[in-house]
Amino acid sequence: MSAVISALPGEIISVDPSTGEELGRVPSYTTDEVEAALARSREAFAGWRATSFAARRALVMAAREVILGELDEIAGLISAETGKPVAEALAMEVAPVLDLMRHFADSAEKMLRPRRIGIGLYSLFGRTSKIIYHPLGPVAIIPAWNFPFSIPLGEATMALMAGNSVLIKPSELTPMVGVKIGEIFQRGGAAAGLVQILTGAGDTGAALVKAGPAKVMFTGSVATGKKILATAAEKMTPVVLELGGKDPMIVFEDADLELAAGGAVWGAFCNSGQACSSVERLYVHESVAGVFTRMVVEKTRRLKQGRGTDDDVSVGAMTSEAQLYKVEEHVADFVRSGAVIETGGRRVEMDGTFFEPTVISGASNEMLGMREETFGPTLPIAKFATEAEAIELANDSKFGLTASVWTRDAAKGRRVAEQIEAGTVCVNEVLYTHGIGQTPWGGVKNSGRGRTHGIDGLMELVEPRHIHLNRIALLPNAWWFPYSRLAKETFKAFATHFASGSMVRFSRMVPLLHRRINEVKRSGSEGKNAD
Ligand code: NAD
Repeated sequence: MSAVISALPGEIISVDPSTGEELGRVPSYTTDEVEAALARSREAFAGWRATSFAARRALVMAAREVILGELDEIAGLISAETGKPVAEALAMEVAPVLDLMRHFADSAEKMLRPRRIGIGLYSLFGRTSKIIYHPLGPVAIIPAWNFPFSIPLGEATMALMAGNSVLIKPSELTPMVGVKIGEIFQRGGAAAGLVQILTGAGDTGAALVKAGPAKVMFTGSVATGKKILATAAEKMTPVVLELGGKDPMIVFEDADLELAAGGAVWGAFCNSGQACSSVERLYVHESVAGVFTRMVVEKTRRLKQGRGTDDDVSVGAMTSEAQLYKVEEHVADFVRSGAVIETGGRRVEMDGTFFEPTVISGASNEMLGMREETFGPTLPIAKFATEAEAIELANDSKFGLTASVWTRDAAKGRRVAEQIEAGTVCVNEVLYTHGIGQTPWGGVKNSGRGRTHGIDGLMELVEPRHIHLNRIALLPNAWWFPYSRLAKETFKAFATHFASGSMVRFSRMVPLLHRRINEVKRSGSEGKNAD
């Protein structure tokens, strides 16, 4: 079974991966249609950029109300298109994005208020500097399929609050959720062209990047991220990349093992392991490895797997057949390499793309499933002996999205967290901070560039511009023409006295500065006399 089959050219069929049933059809936008949409977006931007924060807030809050009025339908649609349980769609997508919408609706104005900046001794000459934040223009949002509602909707909200227009190219695996986001904004009162949904596959996404939006917010694989960067370079379009992960979890011997085991099982198997911040490598101290692995296995065996519409199902279908094959390949490699499947390990014998939650012991960093992103329900466990070794193993990866450290010793937790190469490191928590819209989200190494969420994420969606003002512009500057022996002497004093930042030292060069300014002034008036 294939989750998406293109029946006719120019058409995408959306399929429920847990049943194989068709959910609907959407058009695939052509290059010409993408360019026309970008032109409409530019027109909408011209009006939207001039709106007040109150007007932007009103739109976002109205869109929020539309979602609140349709919680069940929306969660049901997310579940149907991705395979995840309805409960998980509510917990991990709908609730967090509603929180994010409220937060940025309330706080964007304050975050983007013009900001006065200190300019040290230059202020003695009556100068001031401030930063103002301009919107960018049409922002292209190209998300993956794993959180098809919360990721593009959160980014769209932030872009709109910053005064931008938005074009979303949803994943071809979850186009109906994308269309729903457009409908939500439309019903919330968005002007024509302000939020557009351009359904299609990779070629539509490529056409959108090539068309030259003001910014590209991309979420997806490293391979596609590289292609987008290359295309964006043609027009020097700025890009934020939210890419893959291979996120480590470190469990020390003094951790609350029961809690850590629960965190590991949820962190590895929620969304069938298809979260960029899923626990994909677990390192446990050798002294507790046996007991901890048993706890994890026991909790995993208790998980009910099935259709996301059943209330007591915790693990749903994987979103695509291709993803399932990758999991099979990684599990087979673990077995070949001598690791042990403690539970799971196979595709489930039922309709739909289900893979058993799988716990693997005896894993090591050389194995394929410890190096490449699996993006499926596997939890490989390896052992470590010392704190230094745990850090080294965790950092031995080309990815660096999130990580977690589990210990009852808060000082040790912080110490280890600060040495791990990742965009976010949690201590005694796992995976969920994408749900806290106030905190920055993004990776280091191959996990990405730039940030979404938090004030850092909002700053990606604006252009800071510097306004520098001389309030008492009566005299020429000492560094203007003509240069002379006196000029050289003054500039040396700038280097030794002014640049020291010390008022006392600066005061010693004032007479020199005075003479030099007079020199520049005189030369100006000589020029005038010559005329
Ligand atoms: P993908 O790279 O195949 O596709 C992502 C999006 O890019 C889709 O909408 C796709 O249609 C589009 N696309 C494909 N080719 C394109 C091109 N040449 N130009 C422009 N757009 C193009 O990724 P995927 O399989 O949808 O997503 C899985 C990946 O996403 C995983 O690696 C996962 O870790 C990552 N992810 C990262 C985060 C994060 O926040 N860091 C969040 C979710 C998912």
